[in-house]
Amino acid sequence: MERKAIGIISGKGGVGKTSLTASLASLASNDPDINPIIMDCDVDAPNLALILPAENEHNIDIQDTYTTLKASFIEEKCVHCKQCIEDNFCEFHALNWNEEQEIPIISYLACEGCGACKVLCPEHAFEIHPVKSGEIISYITRKEPRLVYGRTELGSTTSGKLVSESKEFTQNLEEYEDSNLILIDGPPGIGCPVIATVSGLDYVITICEPTPSGLHDVKRAIEVVQQFEIPFGIVINKADLKSPFQKKFQEFIESTGYDILGRIPFDLQIAHAMANAEPVVDYDPNAPASKSIEEIFQKLKKRLWNSSL
Ligand code: SF4
Ligand code: SF4
Repeated sequence: MERKAIGIISGKGGVGKTSLTASLASLASNDPDINPIIMDCDVDAPNLALILPAENEHNIDIQDTYTTLKASFIEEKCVHCKQCIEDNFCEFHALNWNEEQEIPIISYLACEGCGACKVLCPEHAFEIHPVKSGEIISYITRKEPRLVYGRTELGSTTSGKLVSESKEFTQNLEEYEDSNLILIDGPPGIGCPVIATVSGLDYVITICEPTPSGLHDVKRAIEVVQQFEIPFGIVINKADLKSPFQKKFQEFIESTGYDILGRIPFDLQIAHAMANAEPVVDYDPNAPASKSIEEIFQKLKKRLWNSSL
């Protein structure tokens, strides 16, 4: 089967994205037709690894990435003119004045590496250079497929770049050629890391809950996906939630004609599975949520490979 890359995204976090990804990863691993590679592109808070641990903890590949730029200060060149402060060289408020030493202090976390201070200082007392921005971690999971995920360093300003580097890393893996499914747990929101995640995908699942904020968030997520003209399906989590908004939510979703890939009922077994660090389809295959996810998986296969597999 032709290789397909799919991402699971949501307009905001905490709506079951990672839980669904973990279960789909497990079902894909058990499927004899599918040879998956799993990715976690939620680089600012990756947690898929907690549910898909390494088969061998001593065989984990970690590569540092250097995609973030930061300023450094060369004190010997400074003539203490204070122009960098008085003329507001830094629009990110990363420069503060040390009265005692009469030199600027750079706030590492606030610095965006824009280079303005380097250009504007008449004495060339600032330099810009790459710093460690994160890591790409990769290992064979207990369920056999490889997991690749990025993890940003505190103060890194380049989450989107780390997502792109993680995707490139995956494409250079030996097993990539033989894989036919790249399954990505995407970041929440609609920012740069999401855009880097969905770019180039064959299909996107947007997961949401039937609440007012859920509706708002799913609309935002869909807008991003539509800009890339990528086919997508919606999964409604806690679909049977008792709420006065439920009817309005269902009516809106159905009126759009969007592809509803599935509805997962509220099921405490999901919480128990998470507490046990297991995909719910492994923890309790007969749970109502597991049955729904199995149906979603079968539908997804049809959407991806357009067959009755
Ligand atoms: S860093 Fe440059 S602009 Fe700032 S006080 Fe020193 S010489 Fe002046
Ligand atoms: S590189 Fe840009 S953000 Fe960083 S301290 Fe200089 S002016 Fe501020």
